[in-house]
Amino acid sequence: MLIALMPGDGIGPEVVAEARQVLEAVAGAGLRFEEAPVGAAGYRAEGHPLPPATLDLARRADAILFGAVGDPACDGLERALRPEQAILGLRKHLELFANLRPAKLYPELAAASALRPDIAAAIDLVIVRETNGDVYFGEKGLRTTPAGRRQGYDVMSYDEDEVTRIARVGFETARARRGRLCSVDKANVLETSQLWRDVVSALAADYPDVALSHMYVDNAAMQLVRDPGQFDVIVTGNLFGDILSDQASMCAGSIGMLPSATLDRAGKGLYEPIHGSAPDIAGQDKANPLATILSAAMMLRYSLGDPASADRIERAVAAALAAGHRTADLGGATGTRAMGEAVRAAL
Ligand code: ATP
Ligand code: MG
Repeated sequence: MLIALMPGDGIGPEVVAEARQVLEAVAGAGLRFEEAPVGAAGYRAEGHPLPPATLDLARRADAILFGAVGDPACDGLERALRPEQAILGLRKHLELFANLRPAKLYPELAAASALRPDIAAAIDLVIVRETNGDVYFGEKGLRTTPAGRRQGYDVMSYDEDEVTRIARVGFETARARRGRLCSVDKANVLETSQLWRDVVSALAADYPDVALSHMYVDNAAMQLVRDPGQFDVIVTGNLFGDILSDQASMCAGSIGMLPSATLDRAGKGLYEPIHGSAPDIAGQDKANPLATILSAAMMLRYSLGDPASADRIERAVAAALAAGHRTADLGGATGTRAMGEAVRAAL
């Protein structure tokens, strides 16, 4: 298996280095690694945030471990050359349409949640968000109304194939977990959502082992805070998923803890922490590497067919926290390298 390493900018190289060593420790000889510059690092090395050789590596690899992109020094560049374009380009070129974000609270970190500890303790869910369609990619523009007022518009649309492919990821993710799928839409108001609901409901016949429910997005936002323990897997569109996944992540604790995966139709994926390049702490051995290490665990589970090693990594992270290791974002003084070492020692 070929793993593409794209450390990127800021703390990206520090956290990716720790995750790579964890992957080597659990899956060793079965993995080959190749590294390529991306983001500001790509721009400096090759004149583009997503250099052709980096995109080629992404295409050849079985999975991509991505750090973070972003560098204040690039703020003045034209949009197409900014570091953030790298991740958008990878999603588009590789058709990575399914973004999976687990939100789980480690009991040791209950104090870090935005919720009351007894409510937060029950969070263990995955949001499956569609990332190639919806209002972000529909027709958009600015026009003038007959009355002379400026009017902005963004068209929301999904065709049934787009809904089917993301819904299948939702059903399959639920099947591999606790078997419950909640589809979130706004079918009482939106035509797009009515189609979404019809398509998801029709697919349920293929997954008799999964219990399907539907919820309006406004209610889902409330329920995530009121009683997050009721959710196993949530599947939703690009806009609703964008909002709900940020909400769920803050319920579950520090930004330095949360991994993500973005998958294509064949199960190939890009794995990255949800945090950014954190230039304020870059190069100081302060970054929490756990989000990236947990992203590597997701890679083993979803792209490399090795869920047992994924479980091992997740248990080792819990053990390192139970042993008292805390990086600065979790209120401690453990360094990036020492945290990576603590996880490897616990494997
Ligand atoms: P982006 O636009 O790239 O998502 P951002 O502006 O949202 O970036 P981050 O880079 O995610 O910001 O950083 C937000 C804050 O969280 C910063 O203060 C940063 O130091 C902190 N932070 C982010 N990631 C980590 C981490 N892994 N460990 C510790 N602190 C972190
Ligand atoms: Mg951010």
